[in-house]
Amino acid sequence: MNYYCLFCDQRCKKTHPEASWWKCRPCKVSFHDDDNGLWKISFSVNKPDALYTLDLLLNENKTELYVLGRDPVPSIIDSIMNGKLTISLPSIMQNVNPNNVADKVKTLLVFS
Ligand SMILES: [Zn+2]
Repeated sequence: MNYYCLFCDQRCKKTHPEASWWKCRPCKVSFHDDDNGLWKISFSVNKPDALYTLDLLLNENKTELYVLGRDPVPSIIDSIMNGKLTISLPSIMQNVNPNNVADKVKTLLVFS
């Protein structure tokens, strides 16, 4: 099965043969789906202090921000598996895309 990025239309890479998520490297986004379709869009944001992951949980109607420290430098997989939940919103954040996700994360951190 091929999977195409919702933001740039490029073909995504499967992260792991057994995993049901696909990654678009240029956009730093992963798309998680199962038999019922897309259920999570996960954005990665690299900041000097930490690696952030912003998850849009489509089925649960939630937005979650995870943070992972930089020592040692984490991989994308680390950020998905080991990130610490920092902020949880009871809705899906609207109009997030790879170009503005860093600003969205900044706004969340300021107002949390
Ligand atoms: Zn993309």
